[in-house]
Formats: sequence, structure tokens, C-alpha cells
Amino acid sequence: MNQLAPTGRLGVYLHVPFCLRRCPYCDFTVAVMRNVPESDFVEAMLRELAQRRDAFTGRRLSTIYFGGGTPSLLSVAALARLLEAVKAAAPERTTDAEVTLEVNPESVVEGWAEAVVAAGFTRVSLGAQSVNDAVLRQLGRNHTAFDVRRAVERLHGAGLRHISVDLIYGAPGATMAGFLDEVSTVAAWPEIDHVSAYELTFEPRTAFTVAKERGRLTPWDDDLLASCFDEVELRLAAAGFARYEISNFARPGGLSRHNSSYWVGDDYLGLGPGAHSLRVEGASGTVVRRANERSTRRYLSEERVSATFEELTSETHLRELLMLACRRVAPLSLSELRGRSARVDTVLGPHLDGWVERGLCRVVEGEVHFTPEARRLADSLAAEIF
Ligand code: SF4
Repeated sequence: MNQLAPTGRLGVYLHVPFCLRRCPYCDFTVAVMRNVPESDFVEAMLRELAQRRDAFTGRRLSTIYFGGGTPSLLSVAALARLLEAVKAAAPERTTDAEVTLEVNPESVVEGWAEAVVAAGFTRVSLGAQSVNDAVLRQLGRNHTAFDVRRAVERLHGAGLRHISVDLIYGAPGATMAGFLDEVSTVAAWPEIDHVSAYELTFEPRTAFTVAKERGRLTPWDDDLLASCFDEVELRLAAAGFARYEISNFARPGGLSRHNSSYWVGDDYLGLGPGAHSLRVEGASGTVVRRANERSTRRYLSEERVSATFEELTSETHLRELLMLACRRVAPLSLSELRGRSARVDTVLGPHLDGWVERGLCRVVEGEVHFTPEARRLADSLAAEIF
């Protein structure tokens, strides 16, 4: 058993690329437009789903995630149609499949949350980014702090029990003390069970990166970012949230199963422009990664979406799983991986031995437990693996 066996679980990601404008820090695959070509988009995605039904073969559907872009720019009827089609395509699915929708706060108008719950969504990830109006303006967002609070209340009032709020730290003009106040504000909301706190990154060619290169914007320095990383954890812990990954915190029962499924090596099927997919081909011993063409215009007009493919060996995939494990609090189960591949100790052993010696992890009864220091060093540990 030199090859890697699949886990048997499948997550489906639907990428809805539309945004009303591009935020100055964003490099995602988005299509900026005022009038979303909704029916053409839904037809194109249903066509792609029909063409790629073999992704469901031998897999149990466990999570569905609508991300973007701004999925909440589609009508609830369109979202419901896509959701039903995905469920219908899966011969097998877990009874409690997690169904997440990324939502911008201003989309949650009166009555909208009830319709989303009735359509079958079980979780909302709210793209708040900040609850300070001055910072929101800096980030180029359309909503206010009041919109965020009202959206949370409406979603919870409609019966949604899993609500996540995204925040960004390191924004130009923002201070660490101000950001930590925002974290405390959000942490005090009893309706939410998840917070994602991301460090602002400067991706090539974004408006913020151009401003930084021209000296018009000063990023936070590394020491400040590192202190913020630790302080956020303390503030959230005081309100019952535990860090379970570098950027993600949950109250009991609130962990994102969809994100976790990427980290443990489940297959995923990505639909839509720029979406990525991964399938573990147990029989051939390879892992196939697919990236859809990024152009929304071509996605809408072509009969079959074009894509590029990359074949990974199971050794490379094992190394990737180790790299992802450094970012997480949950231990990496070597016992489970050994059940999927006979190469686990040969491939991962040399890295683990060195890290145990440096005090970055412990191996206890077939599980690797990483230390908080390993999470802080996750990027450099990744560079050691590859
Ligand atoms: S709304 Fe989200 S996806 Fe759209 S441009 Fe802004 S950050 Fe990017």
C-alpha cells in the first residue's frame, strides 16, 4: 500500500465571483459588475456540475460551501437551485452535511435570513472585516459596523445557529489597541460561534500593495503583528473561543467542518471560475489537483470549462498534510495516515524527528501535537518540508 487511500469524504465549493467593486487588498478571482448575469451563471454552474458528477463516485458528501466573490449577490432562489442540484448529484451524503454561505453584511436585509435558512443553509460566514467605521472605509467596504451587528441579529433571529465573523488586522490606519477592542466587541456577541482573524497580506498588484510600494501606506511591523496574533487568542479565549487553526477560533461545536476537511486531506470539488479541486486516486497512487480557468466571461460562454491539472505523488500530498497540520491545534493522527499509506514514516519521519528535538511538537500514541511556537513558525516549517 504505497499509494495514499482516499478518506471517502467530499466537500463541494461553489465559487460565485461577482463583487460590486474590488476591495484594495483583494486578489481573489472576482468579476466586478453592477448587474450580475444570474441566470447565465446558474446555468453555467449547473452545466459544470453535470459534467463533473464522477467526483461524487465512491465519496460521501459532507460539506458544501458557497464562497466568492460575493455569493449573497445572487438571489436566494438562485442559491437554493444550486444547492439542491449539488445535493441531488450526491448519491451519498452525511445526514448533517454543513452548508455554508459567505455573506456581506449589507446583503442581510429584512426577511433575507429567513429565506436563506429555509433554502437549507446551516452556517453563514459574515465578511465583516471590521466593526470600526473608519477602518471599514480604509478597507474600501460598503457596510458599517451597525450593518454587521444587525446582520448577526437577523441571522440568529431566523434560527441560524452557526455564524462566523471575519476580521482583518494590520489594516492601514488601524492600531493594535483599536483592533483588540473590535475583537472584544465581537467576542461579546452571544449569537456567533466562530471568528476568523486574518492578518492583512499584501498580494502582488493590489491597490494596497501599489500604495505600499510608492510609500503611501505603512504596514504594521512584524513585532506588532506577532503580538496581535497572541493577544487576539487571549481576548477570544476569555469569551469562550478556542483557537483551532492559525486564523480560526470557535466556541464549542462551532468549528468550520468545510475548512477542516481541506486540512485532513478530504477530496474537494470546486465549481466556478478559478475554483480548485482535489481528488485522491487511490488505485493509481496519485493525487490530482485541478484549477478552473479564472475568466468569468469564458466560464459563462464555454460549453466545457477549461482547466489545468497537476499530478502530485502521494509523498508530496503527505508533506502538504504535515504542513497544514503545523497550523492546527488538533493533533495529526499518524495512525490514521498509516492506515491510508505505508509510506508515512519514511516520508514524514525525518521532519518529525528534527521538530521533536527542537521542541516544536510531541508524538504521543500515534498523534503529533504541535506547540503554539510551531503555529507561529508555520510558514518557515513549510519551507523546510518542500
Ligand atoms: S468583497 Fe471580498 S471577494 Fe469581493 S473584492 Fe472585496 S474582499 Fe474581494
